[in-house]
Amino acid sequence: MDYRENRPKEDIRQSQSDEGAMLENQIKQLKIITHGLWEIVRDSLELSEEDLIEAVKDIQLDREHQGSLKKKCYDCSRENNPKQLKCLYCGGELAQLTAFDALG
Ligand SMILES: [Zn+2]
Repeated sequence: MDYRENRPKEDIRQSQSDEGAMLENQIKQLKIITHGLWEIVRDSLELSEEDLIEAVKDIQLDREHQGSLKKKCYDCSRENNPKQLKCLYCGGELAQLTAFDALG
């Protein structure tokens, strides 16, 4: 049974708000970490901000293109939507299009 069923609506709204604030804070932390990593990579490889902007644009274009690609199941060989993490038909593992596929 869902423990939230017996809780007043105010409590549920408050917990959703707390969760939203927590996620927002985690995103801020990830942005700071990503920024720090970028500065280390940029300075180590003598890259520029334009290099990063170009790379982000390329990734966005690749992702749009991947929306039309299918992921093949290793077990049943059926093609699945690229957003699927497991095969829709048999639950098998899907071929990954990129290393980031496992993140969903
Ligand atoms: Zn399958």
